[in-house]
Amino acid sequence: MATESVGPAAPAAAASEPAGPTWERRNNVGSAEGRRAAWAGLYWLWDNTRLKAVKHCRRSLIGFTADLMMSRSGLAHWQGLRSCGSVSACSVCARKVWSKRSLKLEAALTEWQSRGGSVALVTLTMRHSRKQTLAVLWAALGGAWNATETSRGVRSVRAALGVVGFVRRVEATYGANGWHLHIHALAFIEGDADESAALRLGDALYASWSARLKRLGMQAPLRAIGTDVKLLDLSDPGAAVAGYITMRSTPEGMAGRELTDALGGKRGKRGNRTTWELLADAVEGDKGARALWWEWEAASHGKRMLTWGLKVSALLDLEDEDDADDLEATVIARLGQDVWSQVCNRPDGPCDLLEIAERAYRSQSRGDDLERCHLLGLEAAMTDVALTLDDWGVLSWVDLPLEAVTGDDFKVLSADLTSSAPPVSTVSAAESGQAGGVGTGPPGPHAQSRPAGPLGPPVSASVRAEPP
Ligand SMILES: [Zn+2]
Repeated sequence: MATESVGPAAPAAAASEPAGPTWERRNNVGSAEGRRAAWAGLYWLWDNTRLKAVKHCRRSLIGFTADLMMSRSGLAHWQGLRSCGSVSACSVCARKVWSKRSLKLEAALTEWQSRGGSVALVTLTMRHSRKQTLAVLWAALGGAWNATETSRGVRSVRAALGVVGFVRRVEATYGANGWHLHIHALAFIEGDADESAALRLGDALYASWSARLKRLGMQAPLRAIGTDVKLLDLSDPGAAVAGYITMRSTPEGMAGRELTDALGGKRGKRGNRTTWELLADAVEGDKGARALWWEWEAASHGKRMLTWGLKVSALLDLEDEDDADDLEATVIARLGQDVWSQVCNRPDGPCDLLEIAERAYRSQSRGDDLERCHLLGLEAAMTDVALTLDDWGVLSWVDLPLEAVTGDDFKVLSADLTSSAPPVSTVSAAESGQAGGVGTGPPGPHAQSRPAGPLGPPVSASVRAEPP
């Protein structure tokens, strides 16, 4: 893992940084280290996964270009990549989806609290042995949950307490006793529920859960260990979500492993490892972890990792996980498939470009005139990304004027290393009559002032033109 940290919450930039989405600061679902670890996971998956969709995730494009986008919060992301969408088996897709789900959940808890409701966190576990495969455990878990949710005992307690529905999450860890599969469910309860209500709900769930597991040929869990219900403090919905979708249960946990160990967590070769920690270990060459990961991706394929009860969704009128952040972002580089493939052939290439763009953007984002800072930041990011591509040898020269940032036209960066023709082609700068600095000719001043190394300090301040 890289030691370099350019996280959006860097203290130096915090004072004048525009407010961004809450999740990357509050729920630990969006650090720069986590993104880097997730991409490292995907690189490993390209060579090692047994799922075809994951193997091709983000290597090819939906349209003609891979677009590097910069949002006003100073976070960069890629757009236009064909992705697998797997929440369980792809570290980059999972990271994106979990961050959106965290926001959606936070909105749900905020809304529920404003209506005077309560939420209880229910944990249901199973007894298991080393001999049981993940597929066997999962089949039992799914069957037992469906039966529990609709059982007569649970239905009557739900009606009595005003439990309108559940949001359910499945989690797996692997430890000394093999796979440990469990359910974390949020019970949305009308009114001000107290501890006795939580206890009553726990008893009803346990009775049905254990009875159904026994019928499915499993050993019943003990009440004290098997079922846990506790009321959430909704005064800080962000913290409540962070307790529900924890860092370890998302790909962020891949980067946080050392921290988990230092804090006395049970991770380690003998302790319980989450599936993301297994992936991180596999990336580092652990063959046992690789075999367990293969079992995980096969068993979890096609399963829902987070399920919203219909009533909860309908009641709170929640929007689906959309790409709202993409609407706010500006394209700072467009790469054709050939350039994108070369970027992906470099270790950490896609992630390096995101970090370079973010660092350049933030270098300009201090000052009172936010709009001017934003435009300067975009230009800085654009310049540094282009110079980096040049450094990497995928482009020989590129210059992107500020007008290209503020207008609707962009350049497709297309490398043709075998051709003697200029490797940069404009798509629309010429068409729209803008003062494009792109074309044939010797390397511009930016390229000359660029220090060696793809992660060198930003140089753009000295060469950047003033805005018009
Ligand atoms: Zn994916």
